[in-house]
Amino acid sequence: MICFKQIIELIKSKYSHKEIISLHEPVFMGNEKKYVNEAIDSTYVSSVGSFVNKFEKMICDYTGSEYAIATVNGTNALHISLLLSDVTIDDEVICQSLSFVAGVNAVSYIGAKPIFVDIDNDTLGMSPNSLMDYLKNNAVVKKDGFCYNKISGKRIKACVPMHTFGLPCRIDEIKSICEKFNITLVEDAAESIGSFYKEKHTGTFGKFGIFSFNGNKTITCGGGGIIITNDKDLAKKAKHITSQAKIPHKWEFNHDEVGYNFRMPNINAALASAQMEQLDAFIKNKRKLSEEYFLFFDRIGISKIQEIKNAKSNYWLNTIVFSDVKERDSFLNFSHKNKVLCRPSWKLMHKLDLYKNSLKSDLTNSDWFGDRIVNIPSSIII
Ligand SMILES: *Cc1c(COP(=O)(O)O)cnc(C)c1O
Repeated sequence: MICFKQIIELIKSKYSHKEIISLHEPVFMGNEKKYVNEAIDSTYVSSVGSFVNKFEKMICDYTGSEYAIATVNGTNALHISLLLSDVTIDDEVICQSLSFVAGVNAVSYIGAKPIFVDIDNDTLGMSPNSLMDYLKNNAVVKKDGFCYNKISGKRIKACVPMHTFGLPCRIDEIKSICEKFNITLVEDAAESIGSFYKEKHTGTFGKFGIFSFNGNKTITCGGGGIIITNDKDLAKKAKHITSQAKIPHKWEFNHDEVGYNFRMPNINAALASAQMEQLDAFIKNKRKLSEEYFLFFDRIGISKIQEIKNAKSNYWLNTIVFSDVKERDSFLNFSHKNKVLCRPSWKLMHKLDLYKNSLKSDLTNSDWFGDRIVNIPSSIII
Protein backbone atom coordinates (compact mmCIF):
# COMPACT_ATOMS: atom_id res chain seq x y z
CA MET A 1 0.00 0.00 0.00
CA ILE A 2 2.76 2.36 0.96
CA CYS A 3 4.41 1.85 -2.39
CA PHE A 4 1.10 2.46 -4.22
CA LYS A 5 0.94 5.85 -2.55
CA GLN A 6 4.47 6.67 -3.66
CA ILE A 7 3.63 5.73 -7.24
CA ILE A 8 0.51 7.88 -7.31
CA GLU A 9 2.37 10.80 -5.79
CA LEU A 10 5.09 10.54 -8.40
CA ILE A 11 2.58 10.45 -11.27
CA LYS A 12 0.68 13.38 -9.78
CA SER A 13 3.90 15.38 -9.53
CA LYS A 14 4.37 14.97 -13.29
CA TYR A 15 0.86 16.21 -14.12
CA SER A 16 0.31 18.62 -11.24
CA HIS A 17 -2.04 20.88 -13.23
CA LYS A 18 -4.55 18.05 -13.82
CA GLU A 19 -7.33 17.02 -11.51
CA ILE A 20 -7.97 13.77 -13.31
CA ILE A 21 -4.91 12.22 -14.92
CA SER A 22 -5.80 10.11 -17.92
CA LEU A 23 -3.59 7.59 -19.66
CA HIS A 24 -2.77 9.59 -22.76
CA GLU A 25 -4.09 12.97 -23.82
CA PRO A 26 -3.43 14.78 -27.08
CA VAL A 27 -1.48 18.05 -27.07
CA PHE A 28 -2.09 20.75 -29.67
CA MET A 29 0.56 23.41 -29.44
CA GLY A 30 1.77 23.89 -33.00
CA ASN A 31 0.11 24.80 -36.29
CA GLU A 32 -3.05 22.74 -35.69
CA LYS A 33 -5.54 25.62 -35.72
CA LYS A 34 -3.76 27.41 -38.54
CA TYR A 35 -3.79 24.37 -40.84
CA VAL A 36 -7.35 23.35 -39.99
CA ASN A 37 -8.46 26.91 -40.77
CA GLU A 38 -6.59 26.74 -44.05
CA ALA A 39 -8.41 23.53 -44.92
CA ILE A 40 -11.76 25.13 -44.06
CA ASP A 41 -10.96 28.30 -46.03
CA SER A 42 -9.99 26.20 -49.04
CA THR A 43 -13.38 24.40 -48.84
CA TYR A 44 -11.49 21.16 -49.51
CA VAL A 45 -12.34 19.47 -46.25
CA SER A 46 -13.11 16.02 -47.55
CA SER A 47 -11.02 13.31 -49.16
CA VAL A 48 -9.36 15.57 -51.71
CA GLY A 49 -7.04 18.39 -50.70
CA SER A 50 -3.45 19.42 -50.36
CA PHE A 51 -3.01 18.40 -46.72
CA VAL A 52 -3.55 14.73 -47.52
CA ASN A 53 -0.63 14.76 -49.97
CA LYS A 54 1.45 16.86 -47.62
CA PHE A 55 0.85 14.50 -44.72
CA GLU A 56 1.60 11.41 -46.79
CA LYS A 57 4.88 12.97 -47.89
CA MET A 58 5.78 13.85 -44.30
CA ILE A 59 5.23 10.22 -43.27
CA CYS A 60 7.42 8.99 -46.16
CA ASP A 61 10.18 11.43 -45.28
CA TYR A 62 10.06 10.54 -41.61
CA THR A 63 9.88 6.75 -41.91
CA GLY A 64 11.92 6.31 -45.05
CA SER A 65 9.04 4.48 -46.71
CA GLU A 66 8.55 5.04 -50.45
CA TYR A 67 4.76 5.34 -50.37
CA ALA A 68 2.09 6.27 -47.85
CA ILE A 69 -1.70 6.12 -48.20
CA ALA A 70 -3.67 8.00 -45.54
CA THR A 71 -6.86 6.33 -44.32
CA VAL A 72 -9.81 7.02 -42.05
CA ASN A 73 -8.31 5.01 -39.20
CA GLY A 74 -5.69 2.42 -38.32
CA THR A 75 -8.13 -0.47 -38.33
CA ASN A 76 -9.09 -0.01 -41.96
CA ALA A 77 -5.43 0.53 -42.86
CA LEU A 78 -4.90 -3.01 -41.52
CA HIS A 79 -7.97 -4.30 -43.33
CA ILE A 80 -6.75 -2.94 -46.66
CA SER A 81 -3.18 -4.18 -46.06
CA LEU A 82 -4.50 -7.71 -45.51
CA LEU A 83 -6.74 -7.56 -48.57
CA LEU A 84 -3.78 -6.46 -50.67
CA SER A 85 -1.72 -9.27 -49.18
CA ASP A 86 -4.26 -11.49 -50.92
CA VAL A 87 -5.78 -12.76 -47.67
CA THR A 88 -9.16 -14.38 -48.42
CA ILE A 89 -11.94 -16.12 -46.52
CA ASP A 90 -10.06 -19.43 -46.89
CA ASP A 91 -6.86 -18.25 -45.26
CA GLU A 92 -5.25 -17.88 -41.87
CA VAL A 93 -3.30 -14.96 -40.44
CA ILE A 94 -0.86 -15.12 -37.52
CA CYS A 95 -1.45 -12.52 -34.79
CA GLN A 96 -0.32 -11.99 -31.22
CA SER A 97 -2.82 -12.60 -28.45
CA LEU A 98 -1.65 -9.68 -26.35
CA SER A 99 -2.80 -6.90 -28.66
CA PHE A 100 -5.62 -4.50 -29.34
CA VAL A 101 -8.56 -6.22 -31.04
CA ALA A 102 -8.34 -4.08 -34.22
CA GLY A 103 -5.79 -6.26 -36.02
CA VAL A 104 -7.69 -9.47 -35.36
CA ASN A 105 -10.97 -7.85 -36.35
CA ALA A 106 -9.38 -6.81 -39.65
CA VAL A 107 -8.68 -10.51 -40.24
CA SER A 108 -12.33 -11.28 -39.46
CA TYR A 109 -13.69 -8.58 -41.81
CA ILE A 110 -12.26 -10.69 -44.61
CA GLY A 111 -13.61 -13.89 -43.08
CA ALA A 112 -10.10 -15.27 -42.57
CA LYS A 113 -9.08 -16.90 -39.28
CA PRO A 114 -6.47 -15.72 -36.78
CA ILE A 115 -3.82 -17.95 -35.22
CA PHE A 116 -2.38 -16.65 -31.96
CA VAL A 117 1.28 -16.89 -31.03
CA ASP A 118 3.10 -15.70 -27.93
CA ILE A 119 4.99 -12.52 -27.06
CA ASP A 120 8.56 -12.03 -25.86
CA ASN A 121 8.87 -11.18 -22.18
CA ASP A 122 11.05 -8.12 -22.81
CA THR A 123 9.36 -6.47 -25.82
CA LEU A 124 5.73 -7.59 -25.20
CA GLY A 125 5.66 -7.92 -29.00
CA MET A 126 5.43 -11.07 -31.12
CA SER A 127 8.06 -13.63 -30.19
CA PRO A 128 10.11 -14.92 -33.14
CA ASN A 129 10.75 -18.14 -31.17
CA SER A 130 7.06 -18.73 -30.60
CA LEU A 131 6.34 -17.98 -34.27
CA MET A 132 9.08 -20.36 -35.42
CA ASP A 133 7.90 -23.05 -33.02
CA TYR A 134 4.34 -22.82 -34.24
CA LEU A 135 5.33 -22.96 -37.89
CA LYS A 136 7.87 -25.76 -37.41
CA ASN A 137 5.32 -27.93 -35.63
CA ASN A 138 2.19 -27.08 -37.57
CA ALA A 139 3.02 -25.71 -40.99
CA VAL A 140 4.55 -26.95 -44.20
CA VAL A 141 5.67 -25.18 -47.34
CA LYS A 142 4.31 -27.33 -50.17
CA LYS A 143 5.58 -27.79 -53.70
CA ASP A 144 3.49 -24.85 -54.88
CA GLY A 145 5.68 -22.68 -52.64
CA PHE A 146 2.84 -21.75 -50.28
CA CYS A 147 2.64 -22.25 -46.54
CA TYR A 148 -0.13 -24.59 -45.32
CA ASN A 149 -1.38 -25.31 -41.84
CA LYS A 150 -1.25 -29.07 -41.23
CA ILE A 151 -4.09 -28.89 -38.69
CA SER A 152 -6.64 -26.98 -40.79
CA GLY A 153 -5.28 -27.55 -44.29
CA LYS A 154 -5.62 -23.81 -44.90
CA ARG A 155 -2.99 -21.48 -46.25
CA ILE A 156 -1.24 -19.18 -43.79
CA LYS A 157 -1.03 -16.01 -45.81
CA ALA A 158 0.04 -13.22 -43.50
CA CYS A 159 1.62 -12.46 -40.15
CA VAL A 160 0.75 -9.32 -38.17
CA PRO A 161 3.22 -8.59 -35.36
CA MET A 162 2.60 -5.51 -33.25
CA HIS A 163 5.05 -3.08 -31.61
CA THR A 164 3.34 -3.09 -28.24
CA PHE A 165 2.97 0.29 -26.52
CA GLY A 166 5.59 1.65 -28.92
CA LEU A 167 8.30 -0.87 -27.96
CA PRO A 168 9.89 -2.35 -31.08
CA CYS A 169 9.66 -6.14 -31.25
CA ARG A 170 12.32 -8.36 -32.87
CA ILE A 171 10.96 -7.54 -36.26
CA ASP A 172 14.02 -8.52 -38.30
CA GLU A 173 13.89 -12.08 -36.96
CA ILE A 174 10.15 -12.24 -37.58
CA LYS A 175 10.75 -10.97 -41.10
CA SER A 176 13.25 -13.72 -41.91
CA ILE A 177 10.92 -16.43 -40.54
CA CYS A 178 8.08 -15.05 -42.70
CA GLU A 179 10.37 -15.11 -45.73
CA LYS A 180 11.34 -18.70 -45.03
CA PHE A 181 7.69 -19.78 -44.92
CA ASN A 182 6.52 -17.46 -47.69
CA ILE A 183 4.15 -15.54 -45.42
CA THR A 184 3.43 -11.83 -46.05
CA LEU A 185 4.55 -9.57 -43.21
CA VAL A 186 2.12 -6.79 -42.25
CA GLU A 187 3.38 -4.69 -39.35
CA ASP A 188 0.84 -3.30 -36.95
CA ALA A 189 2.85 -0.22 -36.03
CA ALA A 190 -0.31 1.60 -34.87
CA GLU A 191 1.36 2.50 -31.58
CA SER A 192 4.93 2.98 -32.72
CA ILE A 193 5.28 6.09 -34.85
CA GLY A 194 8.74 7.41 -33.98
CA SER A 195 10.03 3.99 -32.83
CA PHE A 196 13.01 2.43 -34.59
CA TYR A 197 14.67 -0.97 -34.66
CA LYS A 198 18.28 -1.13 -35.80
CA GLU A 199 17.85 2.45 -36.99
CA LYS A 200 15.03 1.51 -39.32
CA HIS A 201 11.56 2.88 -38.62
CA THR A 202 9.00 0.37 -37.34
CA GLY A 203 6.44 -0.38 -40.02
CA THR A 204 9.07 -0.40 -42.80
CA PHE A 205 10.18 -4.03 -42.37
CA GLY A 206 7.04 -5.64 -43.75
CA LYS A 207 5.30 -5.58 -47.12
CA PHE A 208 2.94 -3.16 -45.41
CA GLY A 209 3.08 -1.20 -42.18
CA ILE A 210 0.30 0.84 -40.64
CA PHE A 211 0.04 3.65 -38.08
CA SER A 212 -2.95 4.98 -36.18
CA PHE A 213 -3.65 8.62 -35.36
CA ASN A 214 -6.54 8.01 -33.01
CA GLY A 215 -7.00 10.51 -30.14
CA ASN A 216 -5.00 8.46 -27.65
CA LYS A 217 -1.93 7.81 -29.83
CA THR A 218 1.41 9.68 -29.81
CA ILE A 219 0.18 12.06 -32.50
CA THR A 220 -3.45 12.37 -33.48
CA CYS A 221 -5.77 13.90 -36.04
CA GLY A 222 -8.99 12.93 -34.27
CA GLY A 223 -9.24 9.72 -36.19
CA GLY A 224 -6.87 8.56 -38.87
CA GLY A 225 -4.50 5.92 -40.09
CA ILE A 226 -1.93 5.36 -42.80
CA ILE A 227 -0.55 2.46 -44.81
CA ILE A 228 3.14 2.50 -45.77
CA THR A 229 4.81 0.30 -48.36
CA ASN A 230 7.77 0.30 -50.74
CA ASP A 231 5.79 -1.48 -53.45
CA LYS A 232 4.64 0.96 -56.12
CA ASP A 233 1.86 -1.24 -57.53
CA LEU A 234 0.47 -2.09 -54.13
CA ALA A 235 0.56 1.58 -53.13
CA LYS A 236 -1.42 2.42 -56.23
CA LYS A 237 -3.91 -0.33 -55.48
CA ALA A 238 -4.24 0.85 -51.88
CA LYS A 239 -5.05 4.37 -53.00
CA HIS A 240 -7.53 3.06 -55.54
CA ILE A 241 -9.37 0.64 -53.27
CA THR A 242 -9.63 3.21 -50.45
CA SER A 243 -11.27 5.69 -52.87
CA GLN A 244 -14.27 3.51 -53.90
CA ALA A 245 -12.14 1.99 -56.69
CA LYS A 246 -13.13 4.92 -58.86
CA ILE A 247 -11.29 5.20 -62.15
CA PRO A 248 -9.99 8.77 -62.33
CA HIS A 249 -11.93 10.80 -64.89
CA LYS A 250 -13.07 14.43 -65.11
CA TRP A 251 -16.78 13.58 -64.80
CA GLU A 252 -17.46 9.91 -65.32
CA PHE A 253 -18.23 7.53 -62.47
CA ASN A 254 -16.68 4.20 -63.24
CA HIS A 255 -15.51 1.63 -60.71
CA ASP A 256 -13.57 -1.50 -61.52
CA GLU A 257 -13.90 -3.47 -58.27
CA VAL A 258 -15.53 -3.30 -54.84
CA GLY A 259 -13.96 -0.27 -53.20
CA TYR A 260 -14.09 1.35 -49.80
CA ASN A 261 -14.56 4.90 -48.59
CA PHE A 262 -11.44 4.80 -46.45
CA ARG A 263 -9.44 7.88 -47.54
CA MET A 264 -8.46 10.34 -44.83
CA PRO A 265 -10.39 13.64 -45.12
CA ASN A 266 -8.30 16.76 -45.77
CA ILE A 267 -9.46 18.39 -42.54
CA ASN A 268 -7.98 15.50 -40.54
CA ALA A 269 -4.82 15.58 -42.64
CA ALA A 270 -4.45 19.30 -41.78
CA LEU A 271 -4.45 18.41 -38.09
CA ALA A 272 -2.16 15.43 -38.73
CA SER A 273 0.39 17.57 -40.60
CA ALA A 274 0.61 20.00 -37.71
CA GLN A 275 1.05 17.15 -35.23
CA MET A 276 3.68 15.52 -37.41
CA GLU A 277 5.78 18.70 -37.28
CA GLN A 278 6.02 18.20 -33.52
CA LEU A 279 6.70 14.47 -33.49
CA ASP A 280 10.40 14.70 -32.68
CA ALA A 281 9.79 17.12 -29.84
CA PHE A 282 7.00 14.89 -28.49
CA ILE A 283 9.24 11.84 -28.55
CA LYS A 284 12.06 13.61 -26.80
CA ASN A 285 9.57 14.63 -24.13
CA LYS A 286 8.16 11.11 -23.83
CA ARG A 287 11.58 9.48 -23.64
CA LYS A 288 12.60 11.83 -20.85
CA LEU A 289 9.46 10.96 -18.88
CA SER A 290 10.11 7.27 -19.45
CA GLU A 291 13.64 7.60 -18.12
CA GLU A 292 12.40 9.41 -15.00
CA TYR A 293 9.76 6.71 -14.46
CA PHE A 294 12.39 4.01 -14.95
CA LEU A 295 14.73 5.49 -12.33
CA PHE A 296 11.85 5.81 -9.87
CA PHE A 297 10.50 2.27 -10.36
CA ASP A 298 13.97 0.82 -10.28
CA ARG A 299 14.50 2.47 -6.90
CA ILE A 300 11.28 1.11 -5.41
CA GLY A 301 11.78 -2.36 -6.90
CA ILE A 302 8.99 -2.51 -9.47
CA SER A 303 9.94 -3.56 -12.97
CA LYS A 304 9.19 -1.31 -15.90
CA ILE A 305 9.35 -2.57 -19.47
CA GLN A 306 12.28 -0.97 -21.34
CA GLU A 307 13.32 -0.97 -24.99
CA ILE A 308 15.66 -3.83 -25.94
CA LYS A 309 19.15 -3.45 -27.41
CA ASN A 310 19.09 -1.87 -30.89
CA ALA A 311 15.57 -0.55 -30.32
CA LYS A 312 14.47 3.04 -29.84
CA SER A 313 10.97 3.25 -28.41
CA ASN A 314 8.63 6.22 -28.62
CA TYR A 315 7.41 5.14 -25.16
CA TRP A 316 3.84 5.80 -26.17
CA LEU A 317 2.64 4.16 -22.97
CA ASN A 318 4.89 3.29 -20.04
CA THR A 319 4.31 -0.17 -18.61
CA ILE A 320 5.01 -1.56 -15.16
CA VAL A 321 4.66 -5.14 -13.94
CA PHE A 322 3.03 -6.22 -10.67
CA SER A 323 3.73 -9.53 -8.99
CA ASP A 324 0.26 -11.01 -9.46
CA VAL A 325 -3.29 -10.26 -10.53
CA LYS A 326 -4.37 -9.44 -6.98
CA GLU A 327 -1.67 -6.82 -6.51
CA ARG A 328 -2.44 -5.40 -9.96
CA ASP A 329 -6.14 -5.08 -9.16
CA SER A 330 -5.56 -3.43 -5.81
CA PHE A 331 -3.26 -0.95 -7.51
CA LEU A 332 -5.85 -0.20 -10.20
CA ASN A 333 -8.47 0.34 -7.49
CA PHE A 334 -6.15 2.62 -5.56
CA SER A 335 -5.09 4.65 -8.58
CA HIS A 336 -8.65 5.16 -9.84
CA LYS A 337 -9.75 6.23 -6.36
CA ASN A 338 -7.02 8.83 -6.61
CA LYS A 339 -8.14 9.92 -10.11
CA VAL A 340 -5.08 8.51 -11.83
CA LEU A 341 -6.54 6.44 -14.63
CA CYS A 342 -4.04 3.59 -15.03
CA ARG A 343 -5.04 0.68 -17.26
CA PRO A 344 -4.41 -3.05 -17.34
CA SER A 345 -3.56 -5.05 -20.46
CA TRP A 346 -6.25 -5.62 -23.05
CA LYS A 347 -8.14 -8.83 -22.43
CA LEU A 348 -6.10 -11.36 -24.37
CA MET A 349 -7.49 -12.15 -27.80
CA HIS A 350 -7.65 -15.91 -27.21
CA LYS A 351 -9.74 -15.23 -24.10
CA LEU A 352 -12.38 -13.16 -25.90
CA ASP A 353 -15.53 -15.20 -26.61
CA LEU A 354 -15.13 -14.13 -30.22
CA TYR A 355 -11.75 -15.78 -30.67
CA LYS A 356 -11.56 -18.40 -27.91
CA ASN A 357 -11.76 -21.29 -30.38
CA SER A 358 -8.94 -20.01 -32.58
CA LEU A 359 -5.78 -21.98 -33.23
CA LYS A 360 -2.94 -20.96 -30.95
CA SER A 361 0.54 -21.75 -29.74
CA ASP A 362 1.63 -21.98 -26.13
CA LEU A 363 0.81 -18.53 -24.72
CA THR A 364 2.65 -18.59 -21.39
CA ASN A 365 4.09 -15.09 -21.66
CA SER A 366 0.86 -13.54 -22.91
CA ASP A 367 -1.07 -15.09 -20.02
CA TRP A 368 1.55 -14.04 -17.49
CA PHE A 369 1.86 -10.42 -18.61
CA GLY A 370 -1.86 -10.14 -19.36
CA ASP A 371 -2.46 -10.58 -15.63
CA ARG A 372 0.29 -8.31 -14.38
CA ILE A 373 1.01 -5.29 -16.56
CA VAL A 374 -0.35 -1.82 -15.96
CA ASN A 375 0.03 1.21 -18.19
CA ILE A 376 0.60 4.43 -16.36
CA PRO A 377 -0.15 7.99 -17.57
CA SER A 378 2.27 8.86 -20.34
CA SER A 379 1.00 12.08 -21.97
CA ILE A 380 3.46 14.70 -23.06
CA ILE A 381 4.51 16.85 -20.14
CA ILE A 382 3.80 20.53 -20.71
C1 LIG B 1 -4.93 2.03 -32.08
C2 LIG B 1 -4.61 0.70 -32.60
C3 LIG B 1 -5.14 0.22 -33.82
C4 LIG B 1 -6.22 0.84 -34.62
O1 LIG B 1 -6.28 2.13 -34.71
P1 LIG B 1 -7.61 2.99 -34.97
O2 LIG B 1 -7.05 4.17 -35.63
O3 LIG B 1 -8.19 3.26 -33.62
O4 LIG B 1 -8.53 2.21 -35.84
C5 LIG B 1 -4.69 -1.00 -34.29
N1 LIG B 1 -3.81 -1.73 -33.61
C6 LIG B 1 -3.30 -1.33 -32.44
C7 LIG B 1 -2.31 -2.19 -31.77
C8 LIG B 1 -3.70 -0.12 -31.88
O5 LIG B 1 -3.20 0.26 -30.71
